[in-house]
Amino acid sequence: MAEEKFDGIVLKEAALGETGKRLIVLAKDLGKITVSAKGAKSAKSRLNAPAQLFSYSSFTAYKNRNFYNASQGEIIESFYALRSDMEKFAYGSFICELTEKSVPEEMESNDVLHLLLMTFAVLSSTDFSPRLAAVIYEIKLLDTLGLLSGGESCSMCGADTQGQSFFNARMGGIICRDCSAKAAGSYPIFEGTRKAIEFVVKNSGKRIFAFSLSGEVLKQLEKVMEIYVRTHLCHDIKSLEFLKTMNI
Ligand SMILES: [Zn+2]
Repeated sequence: MAEEKFDGIVLKEAALGETGKRLIVLAKDLGKITVSAKGAKSAKSRLNAPAQLFSYSSFTAYKNRNFYNASQGEIIESFYALRSDMEKFAYGSFICELTEKSVPEEMESNDVLHLLLMTFAVLSSTDFSPRLAAVIYEIKLLDTLGLLSGGESCSMCGADTQGQSFFNARMGGIICRDCSAKAAGSYPIFEGTRKAIEFVVKNSGKRIFAFSLSGEVLKQLEKVMEIYVRTHLCHDIKSLEFLKTMNI
């Protein structure tokens, strides 16, 4: 068994025996992997901080058949603010769950890791709205995975949608007025909602966070993206139910 070293973000943690943790980590070059961190629950363990949810850590591990067995870990960036603020924690958890459920196992996903690190940096070290940051991440994640198009043209017929856009999750998102009459389950959306999706898909890097939205448009964008994610990724998103109970 060869020892490997890799850097990654902890997307999920579960108990493993009395003192250990079973982690889902999005690792550089390796993609989504399972990591066993024995003793990580103990405050004295060197794996304690690196094995916490949201931590970006460097692990040393032995590869077993289906998982990595961590022997050492070091924090690169803890994103501590995500754990100390209830709203940031809730949206950070949602972002992690979405990532965990959408990225395939053991397939290099460096684009998603880069997006996740950038979003966590915005969430933890700025006053940018966690609600808006989460929906921007959601749009860019779907775009990165090839599941969402830009919205300046109808995803059914290719016609210009500007100024008269409709939404239909099953038909690929934003569609034109003519197609909305043919496709069941379509409804009109604000121009601001369409523009926000277009902006995030067309831009890259930190620029995707360079805008703000009115409360009304943000609410519609969240709703539209929730339907889209439930249609194309997975129906069951536990952290989203939690967010709704928080009323933030
Ligand atoms: Zn159309």
